[in-house]
Amino acid sequence: MSDHLISTRVLAGQCPRCRTLVLTGIAEGVPAHVDPHPVAPAGELTAVVQGRATYTVKQGELVRRDALRVRSLRGPVVVDHRCGEPIPAAQLAPPDPPPAPRQVPHISATATRVREHLLAAGPDLIWRIAVALTLPAEDVTTAVRRLDDAGQIQRTDPRPGMPTHWAAVPVEHVPPY
Ligand SMILES: [Zn+2]
Repeated sequence: MSDHLISTRVLAGQCPRCRTLVLTGIAEGVPAHVDPHPVAPAGELTAVVQGRATYTVKQGELVRRDALRVRSLRGPVVVDHRCGEPIPAAQLAPPDPPPAPRQVPHISATATRVREHLLAAGPDLIWRIAVALTLPAEDVTTAVRRLDDAGQIQRTDPRPGMPTHWAAVPVEHVPPY
């Protein structure tokens, strides 16, 4: 990268002609307007064939992808905006995968099965959990006690004279170890 040419952080804006959303910034001294959606390699190829410049978004700035740099640049690739010529949707980069769901701390395989049963089936009794999972009641009792200690399950409000039902605590309320 040249030291004497300025680059600025990209900003969201509107194309003054077609009014679609674009990102604008100065890329090493040259003003750039790019489509906001990163492209897949096929989309970059399409852009290059059309004679459009491509950029890597690096630390919020646009870095022109020329032949010398293209192999070393890592990051989302965006292409010069052309009014009415979006890169086909099939050639855009897939969206980021959703964050992995939070996991509760692992206690034991049996405890995991008990908790998953309660998540799926709702509050349940120990003996019914044992039947559903075809596990000895003692194993379920032990798992329930350890899940309760870990805050992963809780007693539902017991009605007088009713046996204790257990319910899974939502993952966001489970304390970390
Ligand atoms: Zn436009």
